[in-house]
Amino acid sequence: MNVFKFGGASVKSGLAVKNVAKIIQEHKNDSLLVVVSAMGKTTNMLENLVEAVFNESKNKQSIFNEIKVFHEEIMAGLVENSTRYFFEVENLFIELECQLDTELSDISYVELYDRIVPFGELISTKIINTFLNASGISTRWIDARNFIKTDQKFSKASVNWYATKELIEKRLKPIVNRQIVVTQGFIGRSSLGLSTTLGREGSDYSASIFAYGLDASSVTIWKDVLGVYNADPKQLYSAELIPQIGFQQAIELAYYGASVIHPKTIQPLQEKQIPLYVKSFVERELSGTLVSEKNNLELPSCIIFKDKQALLDFKTKDFSFIVENHMTHIFQVFSDLGISVNLIQNSAISFRCIVDDEPKLFENLAEIFKDKFSVRVTSTHRLLTIYNYTNGAEEKYLEDKKVLLEQKSLITAQFLFS
Ligand code: ASP
Ligand code: MG
Repeated sequence: MNVFKFGGASVKSGLAVKNVAKIIQEHKNDSLLVVVSAMGKTTNMLENLVEAVFNESKNKQSIFNEIKVFHEEIMAGLVENSTRYFFEVENLFIELECQLDTELSDISYVELYDRIVPFGELISTKIINTFLNASGISTRWIDARNFIKTDQKFSKASVNWYATKELIEKRLKPIVNRQIVVTQGFIGRSSLGLSTTLGREGSDYSASIFAYGLDASSVTIWKDVLGVYNADPKQLYSAELIPQIGFQQAIELAYYGASVIHPKTIQPLQEKQIPLYVKSFVERELSGTLVSEKNNLELPSCIIFKDKQALLDFKTKDFSFIVENHMTHIFQVFSDLGISVNLIQNSAISFRCIVDDEPKLFENLAEIFKDKFSVRVTSTHRLLTIYNYTNGAEEKYLEDKKVLLEQKSLITAQFLFS
C-alpha cells in the first residue's frame, strides 16, 4: 500500500491534471491512496475570499467568481460537455457561495477561514476523481475530514492521533485495499464536527498521517522540482539535488524552512520507518530524493531562506536579569497566542527571538507584557540558515544586506537580515 501526494502545482491546469491521471494510471493495480491539494494558487484566492467575507467587502462576489471560473476552465480542458460530468463540483460551488452570506456576529476570523478554505481541496479532489473515473480509472473519493481528527485550533489544528489512527486503520484501510482512494490534504474535522485546517502547505503532512495509519510501504510526494535540493532551485541557480537524506537530516532542513517538505511530515514516517520519495511529476523516470532512516549521510552545505520573519525584542523594565520565570511567562504567552519561534537569543537583560511574522498576533504584546518588559517588534526580515556551515559561506548572500542578528552552532549558522 502506497501513498501519493500531489500539490497545487501538479494540478494547476487541465493539462497538469491529465498528467496526474497518467501517473495514477501507471499504478492502477497497486493499492494506493492519493492525497491532493487545492489547484494552483486556489488557497491564496480563498484566503482573499475569507478576508473579503469577514470585512463584508463588496469584492467578495468577484473573488468567488474568479475562483469558480478558474476551476471551470480546468474542467472544460478535461472533457467535452464538462457540466454533464462535474455536477458534484457545481454543488460544492453552491455551498461555497452560501458562505458569502455567513452571519458574522459570532464567528471568529479563523473559524470562518476553516469553513471556507477547505473548499479548495474538496473541489480539486472532486474534479480529479470525476476525471479519473471518466477516463476508465476506477477510484473512490473520500472526505479526509472523516478520518483526520483534530482539536479546534482553527487554521493550525493539531491532530488527535489516537482517534485518527483508529479510524484510518479500521475504516479506511479496507477501502484502500479494494480501490484507489482520492482524498484531500490539509483538512480535518474537530470532535464538534467543524472543519479545520492543518496550516499552510499542510498536505504533505496529511499524506504522512494517512501513511502512518495505513502502515504504508512508502510515500511519494510528486513535485515540480526533481527532488530535495541543498537550496531552493528556483532562487539559486547552483542548487544541487540531494539523492538520499536521513529522516533526522530532513526534519532539520524542513525546520529551518526548506520549503520542499512540510516540517511536520517526516516525524510520523520516521516513527514507522516509512520511506519518502520526493520526485518530479514531469521527469518521472528520474529517481529524485529518497528520505529514509539512513542518517549521517554526507550532505553538501544547505542554504535555506525563510521569509516573513519578525524580530521580537524584550527588555526588562527594571533592569533585572532575564531568568527562568521570565522565560516561562514569555513562552506561555507565545503558546497561548500560537506564535511560533524560530530562534532565540538572550543576554543579561534582554531576550530576542525570531518568529514567523503574523502582525495580528503581535498587536497586544506590548500590553500583555507591560508590567515587566518593553517589547519592540520589527518585521519583514529574512532568515538565512546555512546547514553544514563553513566559515564565510554567508558572505555572498549577504553582501549589501544589514544583518540584525546572527547565531552559530557546530553545524549551523543563522543570519537575520533585511
Ligand atoms: N492548499 C493548501 C495550501 O496551499 C495546502 C497545501 O497545498 O499543502 O497551503
Ligand atoms: Mg497548495
